[in-house]
Amino acid sequence: MANPTELFGENVFSMRVMREHLSEKTVKSLEATIKTGKSLDAGIADEVAEAMKEWAVAKGATHFTHWFQPLTGSTAEKHDSFIVPDGQGSVVCKFSGAELIQGEPDASSFPSGGLRATFEARGYTGWDPSSPAFIKDNTLCIPTVFCGYHGEALDKKTPLLRSGKALGVQAERLAKLFKVPCKQQTYSTLGAEQEYFLIDEEIYNARLDLQQTGRTLFGSKPAKHQQMEDHYFGAIKTRVMAFMEDLDSELWRLGVPSKTRHNEVAPGQFEMAPIFESLNLAVDHNMITMEVIRKTAEQHGFVCLLHEKPYAGVNGSGKHNNWALSGPDGKNWLSPGDNPHENAKFMTMICALMKAVDTHADILRATVATAGNDHRLGANEAPPAIISIFLGDQLTDIIEQIEKGGAKSSKSGGQINLGVDTLPALPRGNTDRNRTSPFAFTGNKFEFRAVGSNQSCAGSNVAINTIVAEALDEICTKLEADVKAGKKFNEALQTLLAGLIKKHKKILFNGDNYTEAWAKEAARRGLPNVKKTPDALKAFNTPKAKKLFEKYGVLSEKELHSRFEIYNETYEKIIEIEAGVTLNMAKTMILPAAMTAQAELAASIKAIGTGGVVTGAKAQLKAMCTETEKLYKAVAALEKAHGAEKLIAAMGKVRASADALETMVPDDIWPLPTYAEMLFMM
Ligand code: ADP
Ligand code: MG
Repeated sequence: MANPTELFGENVFSMRVMREHLSEKTVKSLEATIKTGKSLDAGIADEVAEAMKEWAVAKGATHFTHWFQPLTGSTAEKHDSFIVPDGQGSVVCKFSGAELIQGEPDASSFPSGGLRATFEARGYTGWDPSSPAFIKDNTLCIPTVFCGYHGEALDKKTPLLRSGKALGVQAERLAKLFKVPCKQQTYSTLGAEQEYFLIDEEIYNARLDLQQTGRTLFGSKPAKHQQMEDHYFGAIKTRVMAFMEDLDSELWRLGVPSKTRHNEVAPGQFEMAPIFESLNLAVDHNMITMEVIRKTAEQHGFVCLLHEKPYAGVNGSGKHNNWALSGPDGKNWLSPGDNPHENAKFMTMICALMKAVDTHADILRATVATAGNDHRLGANEAPPAIISIFLGDQLTDIIEQIEKGGAKSSKSGGQINLGVDTLPALPRGNTDRNRTSPFAFTGNKFEFRAVGSNQSCAGSNVAINTIVAEALDEICTKLEADVKAGKKFNEALQTLLAGLIKKHKKILFNGDNYTEAWAKEAARRGLPNVKKTPDALKAFNTPKAKKLFEKYGVLSEKELHSRFEIYNETYEKIIEIEAGVTLNMAKTMILPAAMTAQAELAASIKAIGTGGVVTGAKAQLKAMCTETEKLYKAVAALEKAHGAEKLIAAMGKVRASADALETMVPDDIWPLPTYAEMLFMM
């Protein structure tokens, strides 16, 4: 097995590589751009491009590409080779600063949601030096933003970078109030845990639904699936282990800090978790991770399913989005501090998060609204569609004390430390765990668990950054005014936090999020419970959302609206494709199989004749005939259905009859691999 320290970053044009290949002056200038967000010195682009090319060509690269994240949700690349004719019948390899900094892919085929009329089909890609270039498929990949002719964001990265900036501005204001030194640019951190399924390639190839929609549209649950709970953290099968070793090696080569690997709850389901990084980089790395998992799976005769719910009735896949804030002092502002002063700042952050999530629960919900994720959220599976925050007993206790006018102690430790007036020192290692909460505080970070396994993390984090920026903005405005008016800082803070808690504590819930009782209680508290994508997406089309994203320079009203349109369109397209594939499979595979089975059974009954006892067989034949007739009718109804909602209902009926037939039709006649084969044969 390869040594990670040797592999790590082998294919990345990292800071270390830059130091080897660039002049000191250029490295300094680049470093300033990366670390402080200073705008790029165009004068160094040529030198950087040349060094990148030399390094890449030495590693076997022949092409370069701007690598970006259009609103399709995946990544895009268009390769250009380095070659330039030398006039003597040969070529040399060249790569200029201009080519590094800007590209102009034909944007007309990417979704723009009406942002870009086709006569303005041009789109631009622009280098993002804060995410290092890397080599994949012998191609130098340069992470870029992707914008329209007038600078409109057409991608996921642009608003992510803007939201990071917006949050930084507000964090620095808070830092000033708390007299915290500003040593670095503020950035969010992200650790994105990635769940996925593997399936044997041959079995996959026999399932049109998996190939075309990423999930099974048919299939009855096998007797054994996940009820024995014997897969989670179980010993990893040999063939899967070989895949995981290659996966880690490849991720390490690409600089992705893959840390944890294990079996997940469902059979055939697995998870990879990286060490957290700065948000922008972590989002890029998660996009790379999804691609590398897919490719590595292929090399091992598997297919990776990233769909949120490949199998009905079996656990789905998500992406746990672990978010924290690395403040201007370089410390994690969601980590309870060592002293009361730090704890006051920590409690302010907790209250800011409460305010942010409570005010904009609808927006957070909208960021995870996709056709695939609808099968998880609100479908009696982690987590529910109701957005709430888990803080654990200890923090909740402190929150309650602050609300009442000053915290005196923290529950378990019984410590009293009121150095800076009324806020207590929090003991570390608050290990409360609640696996059912959509937005859980886990000691030093918040874990948003509703993101779909197939989604980019960008959207949810754009929202988290922006809503927290807004909350901090309002908090700072109030505190600054109070201090200016001569109020004592700690008193002003105490009053402010108590007010925030009073107003927003309805977002807190430490109990079991799966229960019917919680759904009722949440409704009583007025928390939204939006189960379907089209309803959830409406949150992007409200005056509140427009004002929020516009105010912090994250998305203009037009840009936000374009996203709203694209996500709705995508949803409808997916449902239409699923309906088409359902019809196709029902008509060309399942109905013919059912008819064959009936004919064979009828022939057997006839051959045995009245001399034998065939009562059971006749009953079986009758049941099959009845179900087949039902299936014919359901197919006819699906053919006539229009609109996502009706299509989904009609598909459900087709599936119900088809799945019932699967339990009656002889195994050798049934045309599709079964759930048992898909889940267990690997
Ligand atoms: P789990 O939540 O599964 O028990 P961990 O708590 O170890 O596992 O971490 C889960 C993920 O959270 C990992 O990807 C880890 O790197 C990430 N994480 C830890 N600290 C932070 C942080 N400060 N900011 C963002 N992510 C973090
Ligand atoms: Mg986790």
